[in-house]
Amino acid sequence: MIKMPESTEDVVVKLLRLANTKLPADVGWALEAAAGWESDPTAYSQLGAIMDNSRKAEFLGRPMCQDTGLPVFYVRGKFDSSLAGEISRGLARATQEIPLRPNTVDPITRENHGDNLGGGMPIIHYKPTDDPFTEISVLPKGAGSENMTRLGMLDPAEGVEGVKRFAVDAVLDAGGRPCPPGIVGIGIGGTSDLCVAMAKEALLRPVDVPNEDPALDRLEQDIFVALNSSGLGPMGLGGSTTVLGVRIRSAYCHTASLPVAVNISCWATRRATARITAEGVEYHQGAAP
Ligand code: SF4
Repeated sequence: MIKMPESTEDVVVKLLRLANTKLPADVGWALEAAAGWESDPTAYSQLGAIMDNSRKAEFLGRPMCQDTGLPVFYVRGKFDSSLAGEISRGLARATQEIPLRPNTVDPITRENHGDNLGGGMPIIHYKPTDDPFTEISVLPKGAGSENMTRLGMLDPAEGVEGVKRFAVDAVLDAGGRPCPPGIVGIGIGGTSDLCVAMAKEALLRPVDVPNEDPALDRLEQDIFVALNSSGLGPMGLGGSTTVLGVRIRSAYCHTASLPVAVNISCWATRRATARITAEGVEYHQGAAP
C-alpha cells in the first residue's frame, strides 16, 4: 500500500490536537515534583486537580482547558509563501475537528467568524534557514495569562536588580489570574516589540533545559526562588509553588535602554513541534529553537 504524505494542513491539525490535549512531559514532571514538596494542603489539592485534569484530557483526547487560546506559530527552516495559507486552513479545520474554542474577534466590533481566523490571524513568526526541513511549533496562549503581560522600559542604571524586581512584581501583581503555577517568560533587551516577542518565545524552552548563558541561567534561578518563596502558590491560594520555571531570552539593546518584558503562561503551558522532512513528519513537545 502506498502511504500518502501528510499535507502541511494535516500536520497543523495534528500539532494543535497534540498541544491542546497533552501536557508536555517537562511540565507534567514539574507539577509532580511540586506536589512532592508542597506541605500546604490547599496547594497540594490544587496541584492534584490540575494533574488529574490533564491526565483525563490526554486519555479522552479533549482540550485540557476550555480556553484553547490563540495559537502562536513559529516556523523555521525551508518553506515557501504557501505555508501561511496551509497553517490558516489547518487552524480553521482544527477549530471544527478537535474542537477549539473560536476565540478570535475583531478588537472593536467583537465580531467572531467562528474559525479562529480574522485580520492578522494566525500569528506566525518566520525564521528561514538552510536546514533540510520545515519545523512548525505552536504555542496556544490563553487570555488569562496573556492579559498579564507587562513591558517595562527600565533605566539602564537599574541593572540586573531592576530586571529581577520588575519580573517578580509582574508575577505577584498578576496573582491567581494567570492560573499558576506556570512558566514565566522574560525578554531582556532588544527594542520594545522584540522584547515582548522574546518573552513569549522563551516559553518554548522546556523547564528541564537550562539556559546556555550562565548569567541568564543564574538570573532564572534567582527569580524562580524569589517567586516560589512568595507564598502565592497554585491558583494564588497559597503554597510554595507559584511557578514551575523561569525562561529568559535576551538581545542586545540601545545603550540608553533596558527593555524588560514578562509573558506568563499558566499551568496549561501548551506547546508542540512538527519537523517535516522528505522522509516524513516527527512530532514532539520538547525544545523548539
Ligand atoms: S490561564 Fe490557562 S489554565 Fe487558566 S483559563 Fe486561561 S488557558 Fe486555561
